[in-house]
Amino acid sequence: MLLCDFHIHTTYSDGSVELRRTIDLFGQAGFDVIAITDHVVSGDNSIGKFANRFNLSVREDNFEEYMTNIRQEAARAWNKYGMLVIPGVEISKNHLSSDKSAHMLLIDIKSFVPASWNYERIFLEAKEQDALIVACHPHYMSDMSKDTLFLWNNREKYAKYIDAWEVANRDDVFNVISLKKYPYLANSDFHKARHLYSWKTLLNCEKDTAAVKQCIKHNKGVAITLFRN
Ligand code: ZN
Ligand code: ZN
Repeated sequence: MLLCDFHIHTTYSDGSVELRRTIDLFGQAGFDVIAITDHVVSGDNSIGKFANRFNLSVREDNFEEYMTNIRQEAARAWNKYGMLVIPGVEISKNHLSSDKSAHMLLIDIKSFVPASWNYERIFLEAKEQDALIVACHPHYMSDMSKDTLFLWNNREKYAKYIDAWEVANRDDVFNVISLKKYPYLANSDFHKARHLYSWKTLLNCEKDTAAVKQCIKHNKGVAITLFRN
């Protein structure tokens, strides 16, 4: 099965490892498929404005550079490691209240999507771009400072748009997702080199972007594993 991680940050947002070094870390560790998913934050509140000002997010004005850099690194990763690299973002709606906050991965994104758009508009735009929508860390986390509960709390309304939910993120497991039998993934939410060792997804499919997206959507031949040093 393919060893995969679909939730990875670099210095394009608040990760501490540069893109090229990140590719080498995952390539050398034997990964088959990864997605680079730096934060896109909404600039409509003070938390987002702060992140944008200090370059802790991908913005409309550097999105093309971000994509070009990922495409170049994807070509290098394929040649050097046989590793598929998919461009993505993590749309990050941050509010002081956990109940209002939500993060979602758009995997295989093609053009910039503002985090300030409303949920339906973001989801429809992602479908238009044929990008996968993944609800991130959707329940209480061991790091209690940044719970993002909006999508779980509003699951009856939004589950129809969501292709998969993170049943595990780094060290945390979200039992509610499996109880609800939602399609699932497990990812590292990589920000630092040590986060390489965390929950991962295994997929039973061909190593190409279309097959990977199909496999996640159908959620057959999907397993999770705890990747430890
Ligand atoms: Zn997040
Ligand atoms: Zn993240």
